[in-house]
Amino acid sequence: MKNPVVKRAIILLLLGVLYTLPAATAFVRQWEADVIVPGPGVTKIRMLSDYYDGLKGTGGDTEVYIMEGKEPGGTMLILGGTHPVEPAGVLTGVVYIENGVVEKGRLIVVPQANRSGFSATEPGQGYPDHFNIKTEFGARRFRFGMRNTNPIHQWPDPDVYTHYLSGQKLAGAESGNLNRAHPGRPGVRLTEKIAYGIAELIKKEKVDISIDLHEAPPCRPLVNAMCVHERAMDLAAYAVMLLEMEGVTIRLEASPKNLRGLSHREWGDSTDTYAILIESTSPMHGPLHGPATEELILTAKDDVYVWASNIGRTVQKHTAEGVPIEVRVGRHTASIMALAQALSDLKPDRAIVISGMPTYQDLVQNGVGRYLKPIPQ
Ligand SMILES: [Zn+2]
Repeated sequence: MKNPVVKRAIILLLLGVLYTLPAATAFVRQWEADVIVPGPGVTKIRMLSDYYDGLKGTGGDTEVYIMEGKEPGGTMLILGGTHPVEPAGVLTGVVYIENGVVEKGRLIVVPQANRSGFSATEPGQGYPDHFNIKTEFGARRFRFGMRNTNPIHQWPDPDVYTHYLSGQKLAGAESGNLNRAHPGRPGVRLTEKIAYGIAELIKKEKVDISIDLHEAPPCRPLVNAMCVHERAMDLAAYAVMLLEMEGVTIRLEASPKNLRGLSHREWGDSTDTYAILIESTSPMHGPLHGPATEELILTAKDDVYVWASNIGRTVQKHTAEGVPIEVRVGRHTASIMALAQALSDLKPDRAIVISGMPTYQDLVQNGVGRYLKPIPQ
């Protein structure tokens, strides 16, 4: 190779490959599915595409864990990961899958509802691509994704996103937000297809209670709240009282009738289910947070939010203690148990009885890792 220009070009090319290789490896690693270890209560694992085959082979297809009791009763759906930047919902789903045993009725858990959003992180936010939960046998790794559907799977965004059922207009980027796409429709954008698959699941499995788990930053009005469709109000109010007795305070909010595309509105309007959305606290995806680190995901300790809270700019008081992940998963876990209890008391023929689950206090004292199983080799 006599030409010095070619030689220089090849060296530069090789240096470029060397420089981009770690980023490319991390990018591809994000496509690897998280390992979830089905516990003794899981009786079937299906895919969302079993309910709507238009999802087959797409980035939006996701596992549906079915846990059936020996005795008949009601059916409850738990959705985690509607927003993959809100980890308490995913972890709550996993804790149910790995520990719960249904004695009466059925539990259906979709831990990563917008599976596509787990395969990339939010551009420009500097989010970590995963976080670890410590256990006595080592760490369990979970992906931290983006709020919306991965643009690889749905692109480009329209300038204006119109919710097809209501004509409500939102910013174009909201077309990738699963919680603006309900009840969805077949054959269009992936996010709407995922929403359609979930609505089909609710109808085909005759789900009595459908719960969508989220986390909100301390400055948003829905933090530490349950947002409920009007038909589910009595049931949720009963559950809120049960939670109060357990030392968990949660606000009850009515689902606004004119805010469309959200799970607590559309599932309740388009199916017979009791539709409920539950929020815990996480500063990570709020507009004010400090460095976006794994520690922030796990502790919610954030000096910027403490400052904002001290000058009265948050809905929920945010202190230097933060809100550890075990408290957030504990709140979700206890809320689900309280809703199952409320349904069992109010409609005994649709009872749902779940054993094997940690209480709120168990999770706070022992941490989430105590309730995760070792990964089989
Ligand atoms: Zn959310």
